[in-house]
Parts: sequence; structure tokens; C-alpha cells
Amino acid sequence: MTAQTSTLLDAITVATDQGRAIPDAATGEIMGYAPVHTIADLEAAIAGAKAAQAGWAALGHEERSELLRRAAAEVEAGGEELARIIAQEQGKPLNGLGARFEAAGCHVWIRSAADTPLEPEVVFEAEDTRSELHYVPLGVVAAISPWNWPALIAIWQIAPALRMGNTVVAKPSEYTPLSVLAVIELMNRHLPEGVLTGIAGDREVGAAIAGHPSIDKVMFTGSTKTGREIVKSSANNLARLTLELGGNDAGIVLPGTDVTGIAEKLFWGAFINTGQTCAALKRLYVHDSVYDEVVDQLSALASSMPLGPGLNEDSVLGPLSNKQQFDIVTNLVDDARSRGARIVTGGEAAPELGPHFYRATIVADIEDGAPLVDEEQFGPVLPVIRYTDLDDVIARANNSEQALGASVWGDPAEARKVAERIESGTVWINQHGTLNPMVPFGGVKGSGYGLEFGAHGLKAVAAPKVITT
Ligand code: NAD
Repeated sequence: MTAQTSTLLDAITVATDQGRAIPDAATGEIMGYAPVHTIADLEAAIAGAKAAQAGWAALGHEERSELLRRAAAEVEAGGEELARIIAQEQGKPLNGLGARFEAAGCHVWIRSAADTPLEPEVVFEAEDTRSELHYVPLGVVAAISPWNWPALIAIWQIAPALRMGNTVVAKPSEYTPLSVLAVIELMNRHLPEGVLTGIAGDREVGAAIAGHPSIDKVMFTGSTKTGREIVKSSANNLARLTLELGGNDAGIVLPGTDVTGIAEKLFWGAFINTGQTCAALKRLYVHDSVYDEVVDQLSALASSMPLGPGLNEDSVLGPLSNKQQFDIVTNLVDDARSRGARIVTGGEAAPELGPHFYRATIVADIEDGAPLVDEEQFGPVLPVIRYTDLDDVIARANNSEQALGASVWGDPAEARKVAERIESGTVWINQHGTLNPMVPFGGVKGSGYGLEFGAHGLKAVAAPKVITT
């Protein structure tokens, strides 16, 4: 089956003259036309969501969870079609930590939201009084998502919100509407009308939904810049916010670490989804004693990984998802080169593969202060920075506005001591970026606030309500 004959794709695309042309990220050829919803469509979606909310909430946890389990089974059954849409639209290869992995994550996370228990908590009890904390629906939740893991990130927002009795209006990135509309189409085969609506508009529609008076909560994943806009608009509607913003995750390799044992995990920590991942390793600090070995092994891995179109079964690295990101990555590497950094492997586009392919790149002999180190590259490039003093490198790792994730590599006991001194939402030891639907995930500082996943994630899409007797 090719994506061109997909019935799922047919169900979500519109006629040429009504839609936004969506290019195949690898080739630039048009894969389909996404609907372009207007502010009027948004108003209708929010009104529908508002009307459906009381009935959805009244079903109660068990019935909602059962419908979500059916939706998860549908997403699982449609997984191959969904994966092919993601592979084409976003660009990530079908295999490895790619489009099939993303499609599978969707049904896993929906099931987790359905199955996670959340009982009322007794917060105070005495002879003559008892106070219970319940978690009740907020109302209508806006789910605004980015283009890098389009379907999975949308599900992270949608599934817990639905489980907790809210209805949802989901606004995908204008770069990747089809992946999100596809997963919504599959879920909606089992959900009542109005409970979940996809609105595939542009940034203006995003701003209109975030500031809408009938929106009670905004789940936002995207850039820090847009996150700030949403905080401002929440001054008007007082919508609660969960903000999952950008990251510039540091990794620290301790002295004496067995490099061969960690090289592949380091590589995929940085290059998952061709580097276009919020919590990817984006700057790697390596102790002088193992620096050359780390650079050599990462470079060998980078130059040997098959790079190609998402639909090619052999690819494990794909293109940059869009021209804007391709230009950001190209400029950051060119700037590093002009500063005298050493491009050990890569450092150039691969135009013979398609317009936005960039070779996996390892940059050595580079320092803090270079934009490639200080800014989020969001692409297949890893700067590797030499250090000698542990206190100094911890300060450098913490010297960033972004604080989503970080990792420490080496002896687990030593690594844990360092982990305790790192400022970030998550610190991984001898791994980077591994996520689990039961383990809370979120950033601090400029990476945003609020937690997703597990019971913490359910509480974040509910209103706490105290009942005291
Ligand atoms: P972006 O902020 O440009 O867009 C994200 C979404 O917001 C899109 O749907 C967009 O249409 C919408 N939008 C734009 N302006 C808006 C406004 N004023 N109000 C409301 N919505 C608006 O981000 P992007 O370029 O799509 O994604 C890349 C960024 O996302 C990177 O910085 C990356 O690190 C971050 N990201 C973070 C996480 C995380 O969990 N922390 C995960 C993935 C991506």
C-alpha cells in the first residue's frame, strides 16, 4: 500500500481549490490538500465542544475510558496508514525511532490515559470533619501542537483531557495538519459528536483559539516565543496553561566513562527524529580524558546511518521537516565553521536526496557562546564541547534559559550526584529522552510549566474541587 491509495488520507484531505497544499517532506511533491479552517469554523467547533461537554462529562470515568480504549484500538488498527502519513508529511522514516514508533505511541498513550486511576484524595480528616479533593472537568480544552512529532504530541494533549471529561478542539501545526487530522479521524469513529474536533488553521487561528473566552485550558507544545504569546492571551480568558516549550538539553560525559558502552545511546539521544525533538541532546559536554574517543565514535555512527526518504524502509534518518528548519540548521553549522569549529563529519546538505536533507553532523572544538551551542538547533547536528572541571561544566549546563531535559553519563553513583545539581525538568542517567506514559514530563525556566503523563497529567486537565463535610 502506498500513502497515495490510503483511505485514511482520502478521508482527511479536501479538493485542491479548497485546501492547503501539503508537500512530502522528502521530495517536495504535493501529498494532499489539508482543509484550511477559518475563524468561523473555529467558532463552530468551540460551540460544538461546549454543547457536547456536559454529556461527555456525565458519562463518568469508566464509560469515557471504555470509549477511549476503543479509540486506541482503532488507532492501533490504522497504525500503518497513520505511520505512512506521518512519514510523508513530517519526514521521519517509517523504521527505527520513526513514524511507526510515533503511530504506536499514539495508541499506547491513549490507553494509558484511559487506564490510569485517579481517585479523590482525603486531604484532612478529624473526628468532626473530612475534606476530599476531587478532580472535575474544566470544560473545553484547546490542544495546540507543533510539527515535529505531530500525531503523538497532539495525543499527549487530547487523551488525558478527554479522559477527565473535557471536550477538545485540537489545532495542529500548519506544517503537519494531516498527521493530526488522521489520528483524530480514527478516534472519532468511537467518540460522540463534538467531543473532539480538529481545526487545521494557521497561526492566526492558533491565536484565536488560545484567547477564546470559551476555552478553559490551553495545552500548548511549541516554541518559547509562541508560549509567551499564549501566556499574554490567557490574561483575558484566564485559561489554565500547560506549556511544553523548547529545550537545549545538555549532556555531560564524566571522566573515565566506557565510551563504547554509551556511544549508540548518545547518538540516538541527539539524533532521534533527525534531531527535531524537544528533549533531544543538543549540546554534549565531554571530559577531556574521553573527548577524542567520544567524537570519533559519534562521528563513525553519524556517517554510517542510512539517510533517505521517510517511506524508504532502509532509512533511519530523514530530511528536515521544512525549509525554515533546514535554513536554521544550515546557518548554525556555517556560523560554527566560520568560528573555527571542526566539522568532523557532515556539515553539508545532501541535495541528491531531496531539497531539505542535511547530513548527520558532529561539530568538535566548539565553545559556549557559539549559537550552535547556546541556541536550539532542532536538527541533525551535535556540538561536542570539551571540559576539564566538573563544577564549571555543571554551571555551563545550567547557564541556559531552556531547561527541559539533561543527561549525565558515566558511573551511576557519580552521575546521580551531578544530576541533583542540574536545573531541568528531567535528568536522565546513561540515557537521554526516554519517555514513559506513567512518568511525568515537563520543563522549567524558559521550557515552560506544567506536567504531562500519568496521574500528574490527568490532574493538569482537571479542576481541583474540595468537598468538606
Ligand atoms: P511554534 O510555536 O511555531 O508553533 C506551535 C503551534 O502554535 C502551531 O500549531 C502554531 O500554528 C501555533 N501558534 C502559532 N502562533 C500562535 C499564537 N500566537 N497563539 C497560539 N498558537 C499559535 O512551534 P513549532 O515551530 O511548530 O515547533 C518547534 C518548537 O516546539 C521547538 O522550539 C521545540 O523545542 C518545541 N517543542 C517542544 C516540545 C516539548 O514538549 N517541550 C515538544 C515538541 C516541540
